Amino acid sequence: MLSVKEAQNKVLECSIRIKAVKVPLLDSLDLILAEDVISKDDIPVYNNSAMDGYAVRTEEIKGANRSYPVRLILLAEDIPAGKVPTVKVNPGYCMPIMTGAPIPENCNAVVMKEDTEKDGESILVFKECAEGENIRYRGEDIKKGDKVLRKGKKIFPADIGVIASLGESEVLVYHPPVVGIISTGDELLEIDKELEIGKVRDSNSYSLSAQLKEIGIKYIRYGIVKDEKKILEEKIREALSECDILLISGGVSVGDYDFVKEILIGIGAELIFWRVNQKPGKPLVFLKYKDGFIFGLPGNPVSVMVCFEMYVRPLIKKIIGDDNLFRPSVRARAYHDFKNKRGRTNFVRVMLEKKDNEYFFKSTGMQGSGILTSMAKADGIAVFPEDAGDIKKDSEIEVFA
Ligand code: AMP
Ligand code: MG
Repeated sequence: MLSVKEAQNKVLECSIRIKAVKVPLLDSLDLILAEDVISKDDIPVYNNSAMDGYAVRTEEIKGANRSYPVRLILLAEDIPAGKVPTVKVNPGYCMPIMTGAPIPENCNAVVMKEDTEKDGESILVFKECAEGENIRYRGEDIKKGDKVLRKGKKIFPADIGVIASLGESEVLVYHPPVVGIISTGDELLEIDKELEIGKVRDSNSYSLSAQLKEIGIKYIRYGIVKDEKKILEEKIREALSECDILLISGGVSVGDYDFVKEILIGIGAELIFWRVNQKPGKPLVFLKYKDGFIFGLPGNPVSVMVCFEMYVRPLIKKIIGDDNLFRPSVRARAYHDFKNKRGRTNFVRVMLEKKDNEYFFKSTGMQGSGILTSMAKADGIAVFPEDAGDIKKDSEIEVFA
């Protein structure tokens, strides 16, 4: 049986990098850039005013203050944003200028309106200016040829703004895979149905959908399928024709009605591994099918979620070109003793607490793979290594948070 590390390596070795595609700028939010974004322009492309005020030459208003203001004659022409000045500003003159408007040729600062007073056809300036004051210089944000955003970066709202300012209406991104979800089991009920003896509501397809949603991946839900070979095979074929990755929950163990693996091999999927030396999630099966992948996830609600975190999520992250394959992990100390069976990796649901710059973890309670509420209480999964045995209070362990 494979160890957790071996199984994770097998999954990540298999990763294909999905094609890069051009998408309209706004559709690229949260996706991963597949090319460097290089600027074709200086941004801003002209020296312009950062304030509403007057374009001046600093030497003319040297020493100006409230007691000794400097008088400058107002030019009749003003420069609203979007207009280019047509006349020169000669000595003794100044030109009204608005935020974002181009600086006239021989001016080297803008006096804020608030530091002046209008007096007939002229203004009184109450404050001197340093050269360049209130001027936004050409290229001060971005220079032509700058690599503004790098390939492999996730696209956030500010990046969309930056790309828009560079004049690109489309972006090359790694197209995220489409993931299908099938729940198998004769005992499964839709979640709006009343419980009865022998039945459980299909929570797995919901936790999986949510886990995919959390990382911004599109999913198709194929609903509940009975443990009947023909029906199950048909649904699997349908899903595989539409999805890059298929998640099937249940039916991968050694029960008399666990047909999933057999069906998948029967339709030509290549078995990469079955069973991992871990708890929960031992019967996990992973297969390759054409250009895509199939995970047969053990049906217990906690196993499904843990296997998603440890195997499915990293594969998807790798495919979309995101460098953060796993959730961030911390080294944390056990807050109490834990009974722990040696000989397999145990994933334990824990609560994390930070005390004096150190993290501590406590159990969330019962750790059975059907106890989903202890997953809901958890803010981390502690990884007890195969060779660990009982975990003593204060032992240091890796916890994925
Ligand atoms: P299986 O892997 O099919 O043997 O299922 C293992 C356990 O998980 C059984 O107790 C199932 O009832 C339960 N189970 C399977 N699928 C689901 C599901 N979609 N939602 C909730 N529990 C499930
Ligand atoms: Mg089942």
